[in-house]
Amino acid sequence: MEDARNVDVAVVGGGPGGILAGYYLKRNDISYVVFERGLAGNLWRGMRPGMILLSPSVPGADWTSLTLDQPLWKMKGVRKPFPTRDDFLCYLEKFVLDNEIRILERCPVEVVVREEDGFRLVTAEGEYRSRFVIVATGCYGKPRFPEIPGIEGNPVAIHSHDYFHCMSYEGKRVLVVGGGNTAAEITIELAGTSRVTLLTKGELKFFTETKDLSHIRGLSESILRELIQFGIVTHVKDDAIERLEGSRVFFSSGREESFDRVIFATGYGPSLPVIEGGEVEVNEEGLPVITKVGESTSLPGLFFAGSLALFHRRCRFIHGFRSEVEKVVWAIFDRL
Ligand SMILES: Cc1cc2nc3c(=O)[nH]c(=O)nc-3n(C[C@H](O)[C@H](O)[C@H](O)COP(=O)(O)OP(=O)(O)OC[C@H]3O[C@@H](n4cnc5c(N)ncnc54)[C@H](O)[C@@H]3O)c2cc1C
Repeated sequence: MEDARNVDVAVVGGGPGGILAGYYLKRNDISYVVFERGLAGNLWRGMRPGMILLSPSVPGADWTSLTLDQPLWKMKGVRKPFPTRDDFLCYLEKFVLDNEIRILERCPVEVVVREEDGFRLVTAEGEYRSRFVIVATGCYGKPRFPEIPGIEGNPVAIHSHDYFHCMSYEGKRVLVVGGGNTAAEITIELAGTSRVTLLTKGELKFFTETKDLSHIRGLSESILRELIQFGIVTHVKDDAIERLEGSRVFFSSGREESFDRVIFATGYGPSLPVIEGGEVEVNEEGLPVITKVGESTSLPGLFFAGSLALFHRRCRFIHGFRSEVEKVVWAIFDRL
């Protein structure tokens, strides 16, 4: 079935996962449309300028490209082996243009309604209908704060997603909360201009010791160690924040200290669209429970792709989910 507002598959989300879903749908001659609430690759547009990916992109070790036959590293001027966020955004845009992906930008899906013969999508541009839906709204859509009294509405407390540049913090006292790569990168960037304290739950964990990709990696590892050893950064561990009162931070040890900014690099939660006419079963992390081909276990016809579809742990990253997206499209193809 095809007219502009009536397609076989509607894809919600135009990040890497949704763009790739559009690519495979097109290759299999399945009618589709991708809806994106912002611009293609929206999550990446909000990241810090100059940020460097932790996924390499060179021949033989390409963790970043959407497909290995259209690699990022072939683009002129790309930083290697680790591309910048700007390189990646250019690549996504080029991928969309080269492959003529049908993506409606600035068109948020407000509600996905399950109906007898498929789905109705209420969007900013009116209603669309589809037989199947692929949700690719990502597992990094909602900045997550810990539950600490005094954070909400406190102008001193921000999420790492809203941190822009160290220049604004010259001479300020900054507390960075978190033990992952984002916390490490922001701490390092601030170290030259501000008085930084890094607060972690337990020891700092480094990739070269643990071989766990979510632990502190790359240049950050050696630089952070040295900054702490030189006393340029103060590292505090296992002294949880009990509450904030304006700029005063009260720790579980009974200590209290004032900061000009408290930056929570405490991760993200998934972002699912509003769904009516059926329930999506989710696990304890809020991620949809899916079959081997990415279909919701509780709402037939609704599929997931990209970082939301956690077929295995690596699916939080592009190299983990890129081969899974095609599997989702084939499963739909078989049912058309
Ligand atoms: C700070 C940070 C650094 C990262 N670095 C790396 C890295 O180096 N390498 C790597 O592989 N991964 C990295 N990731 C993970 C990265 O986000 C994912 O690999 C990738 O972006 C996931 O793609 P996705 O399409 O699943 O989700 P997203 O990129 O989150 O895309 C989801 C899209 O859905 C859109 N959307 C949401 N709701 C709606 C709606 N209702 N209607 C329409 N559109 C909607 C959003 O605007 C967004 O564009 C990083 C993540 C973060 C937060």
